[in-house]
Amino acid sequence: MLLRNLFLFLSRRKWLRTRMEQPGMAGRVARRFVAGRTLEDAVQVSRRLAGEGILVTLDHLGENVTNGLEAAASLADYQDALLRLRQERLSGTISVKLTQLGLDLDAEACRERVFLLCDEALGSGTRVEVDMEASGYVDRTLAIVEAAHARTGNVRAVIQAYLRRSEADVRRLNQLGIPVRLCKGAYLEPESAAFAAKREVDENYARLMSLLLADGAQPALATHDGKLVRRALREMARRGIGPAEMEFQMLYGIGRDVRRTILRAGYRVRLYVPYGAAWYPYFMRRLAERPANLWFLARNLMRA
Ligand SMILES: Cc1cc2nc3c(=O)[nH]c(=O)nc-3n(C[C@H](O)[C@H](O)[C@H](O)COP(=O)(O)OP(=O)(O)OC[C@H]3O[C@@H](n4cnc5c(N)ncnc54)[C@H](O)[C@@H]3O)c2cc1C
Repeated sequence: MLLRNLFLFLSRRKWLRTRMEQPGMAGRVARRFVAGRTLEDAVQVSRRLAGEGILVTLDHLGENVTNGLEAAASLADYQDALLRLRQERLSGTISVKLTQLGLDLDAEACRERVFLLCDEALGSGTRVEVDMEASGYVDRTLAIVEAAHARTGNVRAVIQAYLRRSEADVRRLNQLGIPVRLCKGAYLEPESAAFAAKREVDENYARLMSLLLADGAQPALATHDGKLVRRALREMARRGIGPAEMEFQMLYGIGRDVRRTILRAGYRVRLYVPYGAAWYPYFMRRLAERPANLWFLARNLMRA
């Protein structure tokens, strides 16, 4: 827990981020979890995954932009991603963070950018997945997701099982017919907002997963936790839920064995494929999830 909190604290330090994101050894180490610095790197990875029967969602790395120009640039990056997915005939969605589209600066302009992306995604027959960030953003994020759903119906919300409020959010999204990606949650949160013990988070994940499998619209179960995946497979068999009605999602670079189990059972897997130069906060959250990754980082830096 101490190491997790330390990594999550460091993930928000700008001075360290600026140093680490310089081209060099650290960037090469980040490739354990990141497809590369460019959209073409992500397209190449997506093509390879498509060959293995795996779907993708592309994440152009970046969050908490500080001015409108950066937010507009993020929008353009995602428009490029949608265009490339269409050109390559890849079955891919995009995953966006609203702070990357300017949520902190101007919520209305951010919402318009989401609408634009949903319109373009609709033209390609795909959808926009709206990542969930720290708990202070949940209300504003869900409000924009609901508005986008009412307009074009091709958006997916993300719910974090570690948040105490999430059961109420899942019930509401189910009622509205909004697809949900269920994950455990990756940010540093106070105990008033989030369960602190892993056991409680896992139990809540199982509870929310059942709600989604019973009443959700096209749920996506995002986890590498073999126990939860096996539980989901059993529950889906019991409920008669087929591969067309849900999908599993996993992060690029993590959980190959679990992925194999899912594919063998005949269900769909979508990999979250991050790319771009602003990899530092994403990378630090991956270290926080599994402190053993620190040895991987240390080994590689020592070899340099
Ligand atoms: C597709 C997808 C989208 C996501 N989107 C969001 C989001 O929008 N907002 C958000 O807050 N979080 C998001 N997350 C991250 C999520 O909240 C968790 O932090 C992360 O998935 C780890 O939780 P877990 O379910 O794998 O369970 P855990 O209990 O953390 O891990 C289960 C097992 O998975 C493996 N594993 C997990 N993480 C790692 C790692 N970093 N390195 C190596 N092995 C690992 C280990 O074997 C571990 O024992 C997303 C995750 C996925 C898969």
